[in-house]
Amino acid sequence: MISIALSKGRILDDTLPLIKAAGIVASEHPDDSRKLIIGTSRADVRLIIVRATDVPTYVQYGAADLGVAGGDVLAEHGGEGLYQPLDLGIARCRLMVAVRDGFDYEHAVRQGARLRVATKYLNTAREHFAAKGVHVDLIKLYGSMELAPLTGLADAIVDLVSTGSTLKANHLVAVEEITQISARLVVNQAAYKLKRAVIQSLLEAVAGAVRGV
Ligand code: ATP
Ligand code: MG
Repeated sequence: MISIALSKGRILDDTLPLIKAAGIVASEHPDDSRKLIIGTSRADVRLIIVRATDVPTYVQYGAADLGVAGGDVLAEHGGEGLYQPLDLGIARCRLMVAVRDGFDYEHAVRQGARLRVATKYLNTAREHFAAKGVHVDLIKLYGSMELAPLTGLADAIVDLVSTGSTLKANHLVAVEEITQISARLVVNQAAYKLKRAVIQSLLEAVAGAVRGV
């Protein structure tokens, strides 16, 4: 049996057509089902529906053989125990530093000011600012990061940006790109060795779908 960890939310709809190329069609749409384990058109493949941030954990420990996770989530997790053989090119966005419109970020950085930064990406943010030599106090949030600069909780946020319309609606501006993000297929390292033939053929089918062939 092969288990694939997927999350509801924005990655799912782009993922289902890609795994369909490997002959894997969910027997129920995860969005319409309360089931957390969903069978597929292939008797040897099942889907496990987890929170987006939990996908790397399920795959790391082998509770799922494969998973689809955003690069943001993988960077924050660290990728231990995972192969990341395939960039799916979906759910593209950028991880950015943003501040209130009018806040002079460059000036604050040049002054060596200590910045308060709110984010759910503590590890990634810590590495980014350390590499730049910027002193930061990081504040962990679980969502709605845009509120932090507006309420005085933080000077800046580190968050995902795609169109920028959420920032704009909240009078925030992006001032620095940390990295480009897309969703990737990840594989448990032990499973990749033990179930090589079936996982390899699945990877090839999905890679073909990503290339559009
Ligand atoms: P929840 O919203 O349930 O708290 P979540 O925020 O982890 O969970 P999603 O909002 O579905 O889940 O995001 C899942 C993944 O989609 C992210 O890890 C990221 O890779 C990608 N993503 C998030 N926001 C965007 C965006 N604005 N544009 C494109 N991709 C995004
Ligand atoms: Mg979200």
